[in-house]
Amino acid sequence: MSKGQLETFFESLGEKKFRAVQVMKWIYQFGVTDFYQMSNLSKKLQAILDDKACVVPPKVKFKQFSEDGTRKWVFEVAGGSLVETVLIPAEDSKEFGRKTLCISSQVGCALDCSFCSTGKQGFERDLTPAEIIGQLWVANASYNEGVSPNDYKNMVTNVVMMGMGEPLLNYEPVVASMSLMLDDNAYGLSKRRVTLSTSGIVPKMYDLAKDIDVALAISLHAPNDELRNELVPINKKYPLADLIRAAKAYVYDENPRHKKHITIEYVMLNGVNDTDEHAYQLVHLLKDLPSKINLIPFNPFPHAPYQRSSNNRIHAFSNILNNAGFVCTVRQTRGDDIDAACGQLVGQVADRTRRAAKWQQSVAKRQQNQPS
Ligand code: SAH
Ligand code: SF4
Repeated sequence: MSKGQLETFFESLGEKKFRAVQVMKWIYQFGVTDFYQMSNLSKKLQAILDDKACVVPPKVKFKQFSEDGTRKWVFEVAGGSLVETVLIPAEDSKEFGRKTLCISSQVGCALDCSFCSTGKQGFERDLTPAEIIGQLWVANASYNEGVSPNDYKNMVTNVVMMGMGEPLLNYEPVVASMSLMLDDNAYGLSKRRVTLSTSGIVPKMYDLAKDIDVALAISLHAPNDELRNELVPINKKYPLADLIRAAKAYVYDENPRHKKHITIEYVMLNGVNDTDEHAYQLVHLLKDLPSKINLIPFNPFPHAPYQRSSNNRIHAFSNILNNAGFVCTVRQTRGDDIDAACGQLVGQVADRTRRAAKWQQSVAKRQQNQPS
């Protein structure tokens, strides 16, 4: 529940609105789920809440903590589906240092990008706001096990909506959860530390600009429509010209809010989208969009029809972008040992729709037909 919904709930119990903030603080800032431990509520209210409400974190099915500090959880959500959440600490992994949580928004994904294992799984269902914010709750709890509410301080510092699913296709629950991430009575994260990543659901990008102020990342992956139609099929519905226009509108929003740039994600697929020519096309495409470019070395998964570009190629590609004046970084691949890298989140989950096998066949066919 958002703050407003909780206030309405307390009013319906004949209580004052401010109870909402008290309960939010207990849940999010102190990690408390038992109403009887919420010591500033009256005994009577504690009993009423215990009877009428519950605070239930998502059920952890597996968890794996990697050598490099990366943590991964597989949650079983209502109906038995599995979703994943990954926590990536900063290099130096200090106790209170930067910790980025990669959160899922849907079970599977309907969009079927050709290089993404979540896409190969097909779409099952949207996550609820509780299932989304609950991923952050569990991650924070893992750093504060056994500590008293007052010492509950070692928290996730950054959130990226880059787990399973397309967040803009589960719009309201995602915006509701991100509002709690930003709300000072809940997690109070700064708007620059909450990032939504989208494959480019153009109409929803305009809505997002109106509804909430968070950082935006776009999964571009190709500098022209022909190639992007193949890698990110939603491009056929919302082609690059529309996508870039929506991205500019997000940055140059009329609101006095400050969105300084868009992050452009670009997966490096050997021989597919990583040539010098592609880099020059990208420079041209992004010339009027304040953007930072993040190159993601492709993370392979079973039956994937691609290979990761070589380090030399990635380096040459990023040099072209840097020389053209862009800030371009290469994403470090972490958590490989626990299958927690981008696009590997489903790990061993079965490919129920056999999309991956079909894809492999169609790519092989295309390669045969290409002149050598
Ligand atoms: N659906 C959203 C957010 C989830 S995907 C989106 O597409 O933006 C998060 C990021 O991981 C996206 O940029 C996605 O393109 C990238 N990704 C997916 N599969 C990958 C893979 N196998 N290797 C590297 N990056 C991948
Ligand atoms: Fe869905 Fe994003 Fe994967 Fe594309 S890259 S299939 S939009 S999760």
